[in-house]
Amino acid sequence: MSKPLQQVRVTAVSHDVAGITSIDFDPGLAPRSHVDDHVKILLPPRGASYDSPVPIPAPTGPAPLLRTYTRRRYDPATGAWGIDVLDLGHGGPGASWASAVRPGDRVTVRGPGGHWQMPEHPGTVWMVGDAVALPAISNALDELPADAEAVVLIEAGHHSYPLPRRPGARIVEVPVTPDGSALVDAVRRLETPRGPWWAFVHGQADMIRPLRRHLRIERGLPKERLLLSAYWIAGRDAEGWRGMKPAFNRAMEAESGD
Ligand SMILES: Cc1cc2nc3c(=O)[nH]c(=O)nc-3n(C[C@H](O)[C@H](O)[C@H](O)COP(=O)(O)OP(=O)(O)OC[C@H]3O[C@@H](n4cnc5c(N)ncnc54)[C@H](O)[C@@H]3O)c2cc1C
Repeated sequence: MSKPLQQVRVTAVSHDVAGITSIDFDPGLAPRSHVDDHVKILLPPRGASYDSPVPIPAPTGPAPLLRTYTRRRYDPATGAWGIDVLDLGHGGPGASWASAVRPGDRVTVRGPGGHWQMPEHPGTVWMVGDAVALPAISNALDELPADAEAVVLIEAGHHSYPLPRRPGARIVEVPVTPDGSALVDAVRRLETPRGPWWAFVHGQADMIRPLRRHLRIERGLPKERLLLSAYWIAGRDAEGWRGMKPAFNRAMEAESGD
C-alpha cells in the first residue's frame, strides 16, 4: 500500500559541511523506527501545470518526481527530522531542489519507509556504501550496540561527512571509482568474522550486484543477515531506475537462489 503524503515545512537549511545540504523539517511524520528509514520528496516534473509543494492527492499526469532521502536526524521528543543531501555534481532535480530550498518553504513528502532494525547482539556489522549511503551508515553506527563491532567501508571522496565515531567501529576509506569496484575489492579483502556477522550495504547498482554475489555465495552470508539496497544507477534518473529495479533485484537474487 502506498505510504501517506504530507506537506511539511522546511525549518532550517545548512551547508556546514562542504558538499552536503542539511535540510530540517517540522514534526508530523511517523517516528523513525528503522535504521534504513527514508522519505520520498515529491517534485514537479519539467513542464508540469503545478508547482512545489505538489498538491495532495498527487496529480496523475504528468506524475510528480520522487526523490528518496534517509532521515538522518530525528528528535523523538518533538518529532522534528532532517535529511542530508549529498552534492555530487550530477545536477538532477533532487540535487537542484536541495540547492535552492530555503527555510519556510513547504514540500510534499511520502513516507517514511524502511524495514531493518539493528539486532540486539549482531556481533560484527559490515557497513558498506558510496557517498549517498553515508546518512544511512551514520544511522547504523548510532544504533550499533555497545557489545558489537563494525567495519565501515566508504568511498574516500566524501570523507568530510560527519560519521559518528564509535568504539568498536573501524572506518576504512577506499578510492572513488566510477562503478564502485574499489569498494567491492575492499570487501573481498576483509577477513570473515569468527562470530555472527551482518552486512548493511547501499549504493549504486553496479557495485551492489557483485557485492551481493560475493556476500551470499562466496562468503555464505544468510540472506536474513544482509540488508542491501541499490540506491541509484549510472546513466538513469530515479524514474528510470525505479522502472528497472524490480527486474534488476529479481535477477540479482536469483544468482544465489533467493
Ligand atoms: C533508500 C534510499 C536512501 C537514500 N538516501 C540518500 C541520502 O540520504 N542522501 C542523498 O544525497 N541521496 C540519497 N539517496 C540517493 C538519491 O535518492 C539518488 O541519488 C537520487 O537519484 C538523486 O536524485 P536527483 O534528482 O539528484 O538525480 P536523478 O534525476 O535521479 O539522476 C540524474 C543523473 O544523476 C545520476 N545520479 C543519481 N544519483 C547519483 C549519485 N549518487 N552519484 C552520481 N550520480 C548520480 C543519475 O544516474 C542520472 O544520470 C537515497 C536513495 C535511496 C533509494
